[in-house]
Amino acid sequence: MSALEPLYEGKAKLLYRTDDPEVLLTRFKDDATAFNAQKRGQIVGKGAINCEISSYLFQVLEQSGIPTHFLDCPSATEMRVRAVTILPIEVVVRNIAAGSLCKQTGIALGTVLPQPLVEFYYKNDALGDPLLTRDRLLLMELATPEQLEMLQSQALQINQRLIDFFQSCGITLVDFKLEFGVDSHQRVILADEISPDTCRLWNQATDDPNQRVMDKDRFRQDLGQVEAAYQQVLERIKGNRV
Ligand code: UDP
Repeated sequence: MSALEPLYEGKAKLLYRTDDPEVLLTRFKDDATAFNAQKRGQIVGKGAINCEISSYLFQVLEQSGIPTHFLDCPSATEMRVRAVTILPIEVVVRNIAAGSLCKQTGIALGTVLPQPLVEFYYKNDALGDPLLTRDRLLLMELATPEQLEMLQSQALQINQRLIDFFQSCGITLVDFKLEFGVDSHQRVILADEISPDTCRLWNQATDDPNQRVMDKDRFRQDLGQVEAAYQQVLERIKGNRV
């Protein structure tokens, strides 16, 4: 199957139509952005690493009965996915306080949350992806009440599966962002990517607050060794492969 015309260019991925209307092709880029694209750069090799990590994690989730858009990878940086209409909601799940949760609440970095926190953000660059309340989300008709329940329960299930998986790689899953889409049968399925660009991952081999970071915070905070950290995540995942 060949890629035809580009449908959409995002910050980290390109999306193409294919000759099958039920199938799209995602090409992962080396481009990196942070702080609503105010910081830009390239992480050499990131496209291929994130494509492989995402593909592996989608398969882990599928094996646990969680539907995803993943089909297969025709090349190192390309993923064939089921065509879905993406809901304009970023679903963030947090296990440990970091990032905007610390900034907005004053909770100390690294505080283990008593239970996973699920948050919804409006996927809208012009508005700076604001945090939504449940009522605002429904008021704006970004999802139906049923879809919202579904997002919440899927996010928690995905979190548990990913916590266990990363634990077996010696990695702590601090938080992550998910996007969901609706397919032609009105099923809500997991879409986008799951990678060090969209997760906070801490290496359990060290307590050093800078050294432990294996994710995009290395880029956001100029900690260096960004590609090496992403590669390390991939190696741990591969080492875990049965
Ligand atoms: N995240 C993401 N894309 C976004 C915003 C957040 O992938 O547009 C991820 C981020 O990498 C982290 C989690 O969601 O794993 C929570 O991010 P947070 O709200 O703390 O925002 P940040 O600190 O990135 O501003």
